[in-house]
Amino acid sequence: MEYKIADYKTEVHNDWCAGCGDFGILNSIQMALFELQIKPHEAAIFSGIGCSGKTPHFINTFGIHTLHGRVLPFAQGAKLSNPNLNVVAVGGDGDGLGIGSGHFVNAGRRNIDITYIIFNNGVYGLTKGQASPTLKLGMKTKSLSQPNVNESINPIALACISGFTFIARGYSYDVRFLKEIIKKGIMHKGLSFIDVLQPCPTYNDINTKDWYQSLITDENNPEVKIPRIYKLEDEGYSGIVKEPNEAPLKVVEAIKKSNEWGNKIPVGIFYENNNVPTFEERLQARIENYKTYPPADQIIADMDGNTNVNIDLLIDELKANDNLN
Ligand code: SF4
Ligand code: MG
Repeated sequence: MEYKIADYKTEVHNDWCAGCGDFGILNSIQMALFELQIKPHEAAIFSGIGCSGKTPHFINTFGIHTLHGRVLPFAQGAKLSNPNLNVVAVGGDGDGLGIGSGHFVNAGRRNIDITYIIFNNGVYGLTKGQASPTLKLGMKTKSLSQPNVNESINPIALACISGFTFIARGYSYDVRFLKEIIKKGIMHKGLSFIDVLQPCPTYNDINTKDWYQSLITDENNPEVKIPRIYKLEDEGYSGIVKEPNEAPLKVVEAIKKSNEWGNKIPVGIFYENNNVPTFEERLQARIENYKTYPPADQIIADMDGNTNVNIDLLIDELKANDNLN
C-alpha cells in the first residue's frame, strides 16, 4: 500500500501564531515520513513542552506530548522497547538545552537510533518570550527589559562533543531542504540531531524571517550581494567521517563551522559518522534475541493479569561485582 501525504496529517486544530516557523518544520517532518513511506503505525513522535510540543498532535503517527525537558528519555525508552519503531523527538531550544541539557549530553553517549529536532527560535515562545539558552549575549528581543545577560549555547557544538553521530542544521522556511535533511537524519543509523532555525514572529523581533533571508554584501566583492544563509555543500564542505580515525578532526571542523553566525549562517550536514555502534547493537551483543524479541513484543502478563516477566537477566546485569578483592 502506498501512503499519501494526507495519511501523515491529523484534523487537530493548530493554534500556532500566523507566520510561525513551526509550520515549515511540521510540513518538513510530514513530507519526510511520506517520501520515505514510513508506515504511520511504525513511527512515533515525542515532544517536550513549548509551542513545538504540540507537533505530535498534528502528525498521524503514534506519539506523546511529554514533560518539560524530558523528551529524550521518553523517545529513547520507546526505541529501546521497540527497536523496529521509527522514533523522532522534537522540542524547543529552551526545553532541550535548558532543563533538558543533561539528557541531551547523555543521549550523545548512547547513540540510540532516533532523530532529535530542535525548533530553535532563541526564546521561550509559549511563556511570552523570555531569553532561551540559544539567545546571543547582548540581544534584546521585545519581551526583555534589558539585553540578554547570558552567553548562548551553540547546539551544534554541544552535539559534536556529546557524541551525536549525525549533526545538521536547517531553516524552517526552506522546507524542501529541511525535508531532505530530516530524511537523512531518519535514515542515519544512530543518534541524529537537527538544529532548525525557526523564526518566532511573535517574540523574537531580531532573528526574523526577513533577517534570515536578507542579502548581505560579499566580503570578497563589495559589489555583490549574497544570501545570509548558505549551504555547507555549496562551499565544498563535507562532514562525513570516512575512516574512524578521522572523527576527532571532523568534530573540530564541524565546531569551527558552527561558530559562523551573523553575515554567514551555514545549513546542511556538519558531521556524520556511520562507524559508531548504536546502543541497540551494544545491547544485542549482551542480551540474546534483544532485537528479534524486544521488550515491546514480549507477553508481560497471563490471562489473569499476573506478571510473567522474568527480570533475572536484568538483575544479573545490575549486580555489583563482589569478587573484586
Ligand atoms: Fe510560533 Fe512564537 Fe507563536 Fe510560539 S509564540 S507559536 S514559536 S510564533
Ligand atoms: Mg524556543
